Amino acid sequence: MKVTNQSNKFIEVRTSQIHNNGVFAKRDISKGTYIIEYKGRIISNDEADKISEREVSDGVVYLFEIDDNRTLDGGSVKNNDAKYINHSCSPNAESLNDNDRIWIVALRDIKSGEEITYDYCLETEDPDDHPCRCGALNCKGLIAIPIKIK
Ligand SMILES: [Zn+2]
Repeated sequence: MKVTNQSNKFIEVRTSQIHNNGVFAKRDISKGTYIIEYKGRIISNDEADKISEREVSDGVVYLFEIDDNRTLDGGSVKNNDAKYINHSCSPNAESLNDNDRIWIVALRDIKSGEEITYDYCLETEDPDDHPCRCGALNCKGLIAIPIKIK
């Protein structure tokens, strides 16, 4: 089922085995392709922490940390299909910061129909709140890793 109509020649959004909605290749994508931009309002990481608490209890988090000070709030904008991309412990794409715009870029050739995934590289105090169901052979069981106590 297609849930949005953002025009992107590479991907479509539909129900995923991993979690809720996912993003799928609708054509073959070659390694290195900039598949989709992760769009969002730039907010401070303090503001992001507050949104994160709320979204974690809703079961969906649409935040993308740019650096130590700034986060993209991907839930606040329309036409951000990249927010539906699921985490995988064996991803076929990665996030790339290109002049402060975040892109999801193919790590390898991706076949039409494959789900697009990237490693969220999430750190949190409560990693057990973020179980991973990516199904990869090397799945760590959790999306997040424990944050280092400062
Ligand atoms: Zn996993």
